[in-house]
Amino acid sequence: MADDLARRAAELRDQLHFHIYRYNVLGDPIITDAEYDRLYHELRQLEEEHPELIAVDSPTQRAGSDLSEDFPKVRHPAPVLSLANAFDEAGLRAWEERNLRLLPAGTELDYVLEPKFDGLTIVITYENGLLTKAATRGNGEIGDDVTANVKTIRTVPLRIPVRADGPPAPERLVVRGEVLFHKEDFEAVNRQQEAAELPRYVNARNTASGTLKQKDSRITATRPLTAYIYSVLDSVGIVLDKLDKQWDMLEYLREMGFQIPQESQYYPTLSDIIQQLPAWESRRDSLAYEIDGLVVKVNDMRLAIELGVVGKDPRGAIAFKFPSQEATTKLIGVTASVGRTGKITPTAQLEPVFVGGVTVSNASLHNYDQIEKLDVRVGDTIIIKRSGDVIPYVVGPVTGARDGTEEPIRPPELCPFSGDPVIQPPGAVDYYCSNPLCPERVFRQLEFFVSRGAMDIEGMGPETIKTLIDQQLIHDEADIFYLQAEPLLELERFAEKKVQNLMESIERAKDRPLSQFLASLGIDGVGSTVATLLVDHFDSVDALIEIARQAKAAEAAFRQAAASLLQALPEDLSDEADSVTRNVARLRDPLVELAPRYVDVQDIDVRLQRLLKPLYETIGAEADDIATPLKNLVDVAAPLLRIDGLGPVLVENIINWFADEHNRQVIHKMQQAGVKMHAEQKVAASNVLEGQTFVLTGTLPTLTRDEATALIEANGGKVTGSVSKKTSYVLVGDSPGSKAEKARQLNIPTISEAELQAMIAAG
Ligand SMILES: [Zn+2]
Repeated sequence: MADDLARRAAELRDQLHFHIYRYNVLGDPIITDAEYDRLYHELRQLEEEHPELIAVDSPTQRAGSDLSEDFPKVRHPAPVLSLANAFDEAGLRAWEERNLRLLPAGTELDYVLEPKFDGLTIVITYENGLLTKAATRGNGEIGDDVTANVKTIRTVPLRIPVRADGPPAPERLVVRGEVLFHKEDFEAVNRQQEAAELPRYVNARNTASGTLKQKDSRITATRPLTAYIYSVLDSVGIVLDKLDKQWDMLEYLREMGFQIPQESQYYPTLSDIIQQLPAWESRRDSLAYEIDGLVVKVNDMRLAIELGVVGKDPRGAIAFKFPSQEATTKLIGVTASVGRTGKITPTAQLEPVFVGGVTVSNASLHNYDQIEKLDVRVGDTIIIKRSGDVIPYVVGPVTGARDGTEEPIRPPELCPFSGDPVIQPPGAVDYYCSNPLCPERVFRQLEFFVSRGAMDIEGMGPETIKTLIDQQLIHDEADIFYLQAEPLLELERFAEKKVQNLMESIERAKDRPLSQFLASLGIDGVGSTVATLLVDHFDSVDALIEIARQAKAAEAAFRQAAASLLQALPEDLSDEADSVTRNVARLRDPLVELAPRYVDVQDIDVRLQRLLKPLYETIGAEADDIATPLKNLVDVAAPLLRIDGLGPVLVENIINWFADEHNRQVIHKMQQAGVKMHAEQKVAASNVLEGQTFVLTGTLPTLTRDEATALIEANGGKVTGSVSKKTSYVLVGDSPGSKAEKARQLNIPTISEAELQAMIAAG
């Protein structure tokens, strides 16, 4: 047993030394920080329980140091301590129990919870209110003097108190805090990098560190660093008994003018904190800054001091680390799935790994372009990330862990489902199965069409769809509406009740609102929001088919007119000016590149002439007459282009979809089967019925109850459930209930649907 523990400790020491070397010397870590922490923590715990196992070369015996030769050194007035870690509730409880054992019986502990910043520790000295020195943590005792750089950080006061009514500045105040980038600012820094065609920074913490340690503080000043202050390391001249609680100290620092983490909270017991942990974890992504956990501090600083220090860590505080959002594992393969548009999506198959609180065995690779960019290979050790509810994705390979057996990943040449050639349309990032009737595409399309939120056909799950496709009972969405009960009953697992329910839900689906129907078609970019916009402007599918047909014809006419221009161009355009190649692209895709800019423009010919000038000059052509066909195209497509919220690419998608022969056939077949393809008649609104209260009873000749209610409400009236003296009218249909009788008793007028309509029409 003792031997086992000694062996384990030695093993951990070796592993940690190896990873420290990879991280610090080679700059190429092969495990994540969180995994390093786990190993370190295990060794530390082992050593705490069995101090005889502590070796002189144990990594736990060396505090981290970030000292650099570029800066003068500063000795801190008190050790800048690190924190022990807890990874779960049990770890926190054990920490409290250990503390309580060290304190007089009956002591009760309350706590302050602070975010654990993923930044760089900083120690700042104020003398008589003036900032005189700022240093990095260094090795905890001596740090680098970065005063000039810290002075450029606007959230660090140069003089305290910042406001005249703040507490008086003590003779000396040394505070501890953290320097970091807010997420938003880090993104801005990266945008600047991109604009300057420089590589993006990957890690906010490392970038903050590099920025703080610039030799030229003018560079630091250009970067939006910020600083949070959370404790007093040393002081002379503060009445300390006023400040013997961590919570009061934060308030004191805030009054002085320091930026304090807003999210810090006081909790009377550890159980209160534990209860809040899940909420904190889900808030993590919405915070302005990166955190990797929380810090729990004993609120009573006298007790905290009494508890003392173990190793390099004070007992009075502990870091609670969130489950790591990153982990390393092995990529064992890549599978390709085919979606309803035919798009082929690669998915990483992983050796199962625990990350972000769950075990995952596959992760998203986005697309093959991304795979190539990341240079991920099968057999690689890879880093995956899972944050919040986001699908886990591959961050990248650990190239240092390669042994040469890894295999590059290529997009499939043939569709894994239908065996058809895979194509990459010009300019597209994604690969597609080339066969529109690929059974997998059809399956995905049908699965989407019937899903909840789309046509919502109950009883038509993936298994049922698969069976129906296999039995050749359906080939497309329209076939669903032609299904008969008879052949279904002969299938396995299709009992009478099930078939009957299915037939009924298919029948109901024929009557979905037009916007719901449009959103079910799976047109790229047309979800329920866009579908609703379309219905606001087009009252039927036929109207959309008609505009698509006309737009395609106008587009073809334009292309023909533009062909002579394009023919006159040199074959290789690479020597031409950007303005010329840009114009060529415009001529090739007039619907997206030209039409949108001329909607509601009078002098298209003049403007077009001006736009295409560089092109005309290049080919030495007189102004060709493409203005007229373009005008036609604009006129035809304008009703779509004018809709606020539809971009040109989306408009083109919609036009292409409704112009497609196969799609039109499917639509036609559905129309024949009785699927509703026009908008509800819009209810005209008025306030004719204002102040009137209606009660409905019986079956109305044309309106449903919902429609009648909507009609009354749209015209300012109210609908209630029961008849009373306050009821103005009772709207009576066929086989009315007791409400009609009640109306007679109370002498309330009864009216028919026709009378209601007349009432509204009369105004
Ligand atoms: Zn296919």
